[in-house]
Amino acid sequence: SREWHLVSRPVGWPKPEDFALVETEVKQPGPGQVLVRNEYLSVDPYMRGRMSAAKSYTAPFELGKVMQGGAVGEVIASNAEGFAVGDRVLHFFGWRDHATFDAKSAVKVDPEAAPLSTYLGVLGMTGLTAYAGLLRTASFKEGDTVFVSGAAGAVGSQVGQIAKLKGASRVIGSAGSDEKVKLLVEEYGFDAAFNYKNGSVSEQLREAAPDGIDVYFDNVGGDHLEAAIGSLNLHGRIAICGMISVYNNTEPAPGPKNLARLIATRGRIEGLLVGDHYDLQPQFVQEVGPWVASGELKYRETVVEGIENNLEAFLGVLRGENTGKMIVKL
Ligand code: NDP
Repeated sequence: SREWHLVSRPVGWPKPEDFALVETEVKQPGPGQVLVRNEYLSVDPYMRGRMSAAKSYTAPFELGKVMQGGAVGEVIASNAEGFAVGDRVLHFFGWRDHATFDAKSAVKVDPEAAPLSTYLGVLGMTGLTAYAGLLRTASFKEGDTVFVSGAAGAVGSQVGQIAKLKGASRVIGSAGSDEKVKLLVEEYGFDAAFNYKNGSVSEQLREAAPDGIDVYFDNVGGDHLEAAIGSLNLHGRIAICGMISVYNNTEPAPGPKNLARLIATRGRIEGLLVGDHYDLQPQFVQEVGPWVASGELKYRETVVEGIENNLEAFLGVLRGENTGKMIVKL
């Protein structure tokens, strides 16, 4: 069996030397445990935060130990009531090809109902983040003009489409390549999109949303957040989901220069953490599941194969190599 360890805390961009792929013995399950052969691993931007020592909403990864992350796999040995060999489970012991753990931290998933990888993406954590962040944190309502950054990514592509399906008057997205921008408009039905690398975010946003925006769903931070505040309408709402543009910074990034605009607009900025919103999970699956099944809500996955490429897949997310959810297939 093989698993990825963090061996030193990255400073700035993570380097291959900060990690090691380690051979281990497969452990047979003890009482109440299952042994799972992982089939799909999730790599997510928030993992960069756990590589640092700073205290946050999740504990830092421990040095010299296996990292963690979402995963879906097949039970190949069970010593736990209610779990049989052949069951597929969603759990949190990724970054390894086999995992032995207490069955109470596994959730059974149905491979007939949806492709297994979707439990990590469009029907999983990133999907719920989009749903809860838009509807709850950003208090989305019909007729809103919505701007989302990281719009070709897992969360962003779903935010834009849910907003459209729920009656947004205009949805604007930004992404880091012309190809992604084309996808947003032609496949996901965004009304407008721009490549943030092609010029000023503020100018491109003003052009795409001449009447301003009511909601900004922030995945990026930095210039994007400042631009969104600049285009915010009266009673506008900004949901801070992520700030990927600063995750590898070694110095704190400067804040938006135009925060005073929140006074004139009575604007609201609120952070969101998906872990607070699992009460919405049943409603999310009930509403979004059929849209995914019918193709009304489209999704992409970028699939990288092999445990040995787990780290490169993670770094690829930080570099923008993914379109939709980045998945590692074993
Ligand atoms: P994505 O699938 O969106 O992948 C990340 C994308 O970020 C890349 O594809 C890249 O696309 C973009 N990106 C990278 N660097 C920059 C940069 N400097 N400026 C602008 N864009 C950049 O990841 P997720 O959908 O999983 O996550 C999206 C955001 O949501 C992240 O910030 C993440 O931390 C956050 N998140 C927060 C959660 C919460 O509970 N608060 C839960 C889940 C995610 P491009 O080519 O467009 O640059």
